[in-house]
Amino acid sequence: MMDKKEKTPGEKLKEEIGFKFKHIAELKPEDISPSMEFAEGYKRFMNSSKTERECVKVLREMAEKEGYAEFDASNMYKAGDRVYFVNRDKNIFLLTFGKRPVADGIRFNIAHIDSPRLDLKPNPVMENTEIAYFKTHYYGGIRKYQWGTIPLAMHGVVMLKDGSRVDISIGEGDDEPKFMVSDLLPHLSAQQNKRPLNEGLKGEELNIIIGNIPFNEQDLAERYKLTALKILNDRYGMTEKDFVRAEIEMVPAAKATDIGLDRSMVGAYGQDDKVCAYAAAIAAFEIKEPEYTTLTVFTDKEEIGSEGNTGMASKALHHFVEDICDIYGLKTRNVYRRSICISSDVNPAFDPTFADVFEVNNSSYLGHGPVLTKYTGSRGKSGSNDASAETMAKVISCMEKEGVIWQIGELGKVDEGGGGTIALFMGDNDVDTVDLGVPVLAMHSPFEVTSKLDLYHTYKAYCAFYR
Ligand code: MN
Ligand code: MN
Repeated sequence: MMDKKEKTPGEKLKEEIGFKFKHIAELKPEDISPSMEFAEGYKRFMNSSKTERECVKVLREMAEKEGYAEFDASNMYKAGDRVYFVNRDKNIFLLTFGKRPVADGIRFNIAHIDSPRLDLKPNPVMENTEIAYFKTHYYGGIRKYQWGTIPLAMHGVVMLKDGSRVDISIGEGDDEPKFMVSDLLPHLSAQQNKRPLNEGLKGEELNIIIGNIPFNEQDLAERYKLTALKILNDRYGMTEKDFVRAEIEMVPAAKATDIGLDRSMVGAYGQDDKVCAYAAAIAAFEIKEPEYTTLTVFTDKEEIGSEGNTGMASKALHHFVEDICDIYGLKTRNVYRRSICISSDVNPAFDPTFADVFEVNNSSYLGHGPVLTKYTGSRGKSGSNDASAETMAKVISCMEKEGVIWQIGELGKVDEGGGGTIALFMGDNDVDTVDLGVPVLAMHSPFEVTSKLDLYHTYKAYCAFYR
């Protein structure tokens, strides 16, 4: 073996005062195997939580198994007690009372469980030239051309005339039918090829094929549509009018699966932001006796601006915090001021194929751990929470105490685009807030990719924050 060369003064100094983020597998190869195991539960979770409602249902079941009981405002709770609150079946709040009183502040961790998708219009069923279709209006930021020619599943709820609710799920089982949006064959796409990419498929072309056999009665108009309506009526008791009382989401039917020869990644629909939601839930379950009261929030409507009473722009969470404060005769504002919040949302991972849109020194990388994002926004940080140095320091210190590998990230090059998270809404509540989440490749596509090591260290980061 050759002798290790003595380090030059420059090399030594660089080590002392310079800094480089590295891949977790370089720093902690022993974490590869537990990260693989952790991802197994994650994939199962993803396959049963394609929509925000399904996600709430699954999280509630998991929480009940972990000893959470439904919140009761008339109870006096003690350290270690765990409660949950469900808001309109689209949010769930998981709270564990800390050893310190609530008056000392709450540790919030907030992830969103809605994802971009194709929603059905209120009057969606139509037929055109012997094919029956659903008309859709997309939800959230999608690149429309990515949603053609992939298998889709139908999820949602319908309120029937009699006031009862029916849950719908078609297309997840291997033997169940799927749905799809068609696209042109290359042989006939000479004109379509000239469209700009954002019009490759246009909004009104995202029509979902649902049938091709006519109702057996000659000379009747719209017989193909009638066959589709009859099948839904037989199965769910719903009529055409009931679509007005429905929320139906068409989502990719693909299952979560390992990606890569080394199985280092997970591919799945809706990882923005259910990858953070899963890590946050498991961390909440794990930290049974936190120092500070912990409140893990799974919110909705982030992808369309967090509006509405199940989104973070509403007072739904604020009212719950008020309920908690009321028990102890506390002023909510005093509790908020002493609180700290992690906005757990994903960050776009550096994509070497499209390196142009990233700035290499301030991008997040697959396998480098959870991404601490000081600010999001666009055009000069507009619409961003922009975390303070003090808040950054607190969260970094929590992570480093427990050996969590983390990185920083920006949402791409300056003025290349932009976006936001729920962080600003907690800022509005007077809570110190910073974004911390998993890097994602192909974000908002029907099939997003994350690294298992990142997922595992994000979970560890959330645990460290709660501990
Ligand atoms: Mn997100
Ligand atoms: Mn998103």
